[in-house]
Amino acid sequence: MSGAAKGGRCIYMLPNGLCAGRYGLSEEDYLPRGLGKFKGYERLTGKVCEGCDNQFGKLDEIPLTSGPEAIFRAIYGIEGRKTHRKRDTFHETTHGRQPVEVVGRLPGDESPTRLEVLTGNQGQPRRELVFEWHDNRSKVVTVPRKIDTPDKLQKHLKGKSIGRDWSKCIVNCPADDEGFQEMVQRCLGKIEQLGEPSDRRGYPAIVPVASLIELSPEYYRAIAKIAFHFFMWCSFAGITGLENVFDGIKEFIWRGDQPSKYLRSAAGPFDRNQIGDAPYAHVLSAGVVGNEAVATVQLFAGSDSGVNLIARATDGRSFPVQLKNMSFVWIVKLGRSPFRIACDLRRALAFVAGRQTTVGFIGEVRELTPARSIMVWRPGFGPQFWA
Ligand SMILES: [Zn+2]
Repeated sequence: MSGAAKGGRCIYMLPNGLCAGRYGLSEEDYLPRGLGKFKGYERLTGKVCEGCDNQFGKLDEIPLTSGPEAIFRAIYGIEGRKTHRKRDTFHETTHGRQPVEVVGRLPGDESPTRLEVLTGNQGQPRRELVFEWHDNRSKVVTVPRKIDTPDKLQKHLKGKSIGRDWSKCIVNCPADDEGFQEMVQRCLGKIEQLGEPSDRRGYPAIVPVASLIELSPEYYRAIAKIAFHFFMWCSFAGITGLENVFDGIKEFIWRGDQPSKYLRSAAGPFDRNQIGDAPYAHVLSAGVVGNEAVATVQLFAGSDSGVNLIARATDGRSFPVQLKNMSFVWIVKLGRSPFRIACDLRRALAFVAGRQTTVGFIGEVRELTPARSIMVWRPGFGPQFWA
């Protein structure tokens, strides 16, 4: 059945060159499922075809695996769909991108250690091999858990272009991960531990950790997709999504462009009163303000994890991401208002995580009054509260 026969067209059929319109309409998760399942959440319906939905599913993976969100998901133990294989976030590459790095200094160790973050804000050294060559070159290779035999390790290293010409191999892994150390010994022969065996009397310990995450071009597209599709979900009267004012944002989501044309980011205060004592909330807002269509995206806003992240944008700017009463806000410019007269339409939802999870859900959806907790980008003024 064609999209038209089902009573609607995929909004990506315009502008030309994006969606070929070969598939029927499908439901789409404007909030990626990997950010948690919330009671009361309704998917976007009647706007996006099955073919486009598949593409967006891949885009959704980027923040979940290589953005700051990957770390928060690990801390809060958020898993993806049951049908998806459990991801080994801190060891596996995703679409060619290296896993996120979290670095901390362990008690008794002289140099910083790259860590795997575990549920409950815990960490342990990640499994990796550091190869060194006589000419001072070195290379770090993470070893996912699915690599569990010397043969698989051999193949994994070959895939990373590691031959036998290295002069030294150092193993980093949890002290009690003897199976891993043994596999490496059987594959490579004599290995060295990273530094001297540490004094473990100070464990478990609370240590400060840091992470530097490079936001990829796909990351910006993924954020723009969440923003635009939430705007569409709001179903503002008179807006279909096929208006040509949205051509630019659709092309950006589809194939990327200069992120600064569509996205702004700001760290702002976050009004915790709206989410009570919840560990965190995702907050989305969208609307038409004056002659601009805009949306904002805040993920893991107000997180109680205590993690300090610095996100660095491609233009070199750096942002501190996490403080309990602050939030990192993406402001997405969707296009000019499709209306001829100035108007004021707005909606905001919070996806509030619970202290205790109810069956199947990690939290619930709440409608917010888009008052003093949401920021918008006003042309000529920059980020401002949506008051
Ligand atoms: Zn489509």
